Amino acid sequence: MLNKDRAWVEVNLENLEHNINEIKKLMQAGSEIMAVVKANAYGHGSVIIAKKLNEIGIYNFAVATLSEGIELRENNITGDILILGYNTMGHNVGVHVAINTGMNRIGEDFSNIDKIIEMYKMKNLYVEGIFTHLCVADSNLDDNILFTKGQIQKFYYVIKQIEEVGIDAGKKHIQSSYGLLNYPEIKCDYVRTGIIMYGVYSSKKDYIKTKLDLKPVLSLKARITTIREIKDGASISYGRTFKSNSKMKIASVSIGYADGYPRNLSNKNAEVLVNGQKARIIGRICMDQLIIDISNVEKVEVGDIVELIGEEEEISAENVAEKSGTITNELLSRLGARIKRC
Ligand SMILES: *Cc1c(COP(=O)(O)O)cnc(C)c1O
Repeated sequence: MLNKDRAWVEVNLENLEHNINEIKKLMQAGSEIMAVVKANAYGHGSVIIAKKLNEIGIYNFAVATLSEGIELRENNITGDILILGYNTMGHNVGVHVAINTGMNRIGEDFSNIDKIIEMYKMKNLYVEGIFTHLCVADSNLDDNILFTKGQIQKFYYVIKQIEEVGIDAGKKHIQSSYGLLNYPEIKCDYVRTGIIMYGVYSSKKDYIKTKLDLKPVLSLKARITTIREIKDGASISYGRTFKSNSKMKIASVSIGYADGYPRNLSNKNAEVLVNGQKARIIGRICMDQLIIDISNVEKVEVGDIVELIGEEEEISAENVAEKSGTITNELLSRLGARIKRC
């Protein structure tokens, strides 16, 4: 079917499978992937992503909210789905106990062994696993490495205490993407992979011990809706923040900050690709549209496709996120609900 949308996200499921195979190379034998598909699979579309993962043998998922889990179930995703954050449910549910080993976000403090063991004995909870979260696994500063090693030790201390009173601690997991990349020696039941599964690193500034051959899964596309020539000195978009200093050929593109393309990329020389050729965004990015300079782009017509995030270096999620002062996790997960995934 011909795609006539104004803006959309394309996902490359072959790249997803490729990334999974890359990730598996770093994992310890006996460890399985728990695919983190929260926030609509970091903007990729959680059902599309989870379906593919089911097809290639992944049956463990993590989400952030109950409704994200329900959406997967309603679309026939099979396997276990762990809700990582706050939620209210009835009783007789299976749970994983979160242990606070230093992030100080959620979880029972590692030192409160009595309380942790009490949870295992609660009548209406079935504790099936236990986990912690590393908060600085992406750094190679000595102090941070020591801190991370301390977190890992604290977690295993808790496991030991539980097992000493004859209780099976259940499935154990510690690492997210950077935990795996930088501490691959950890042996657990699951690795909770989010961002690297989608083929990108969080930031170019991160420390990465073993680089994987990752391929970006997502591309963000929109269309050229208007082409016009402007005179020397003409201003463009809200606030007249951009003024031309020669004749220019410009085009409007059918995507804006309400679709998740960051507004703070206005006048930052952010690049997009038009028929494979570079063009830069000029003037303020609007809610539903933005404007690009196509003076040097050849053979461009209304309806042509503009790629804003994708595999090419200049529009890589890492580069776009860096220009916007954020990490790829935020950039991708904020891609709007009103654009289709295909
Ligand atoms: C979001 C999240 C993850 C996934 O993190 P990535 O860095 O994207 O791999 C793993 N574990 C927990 C607890 C999370 O909140």
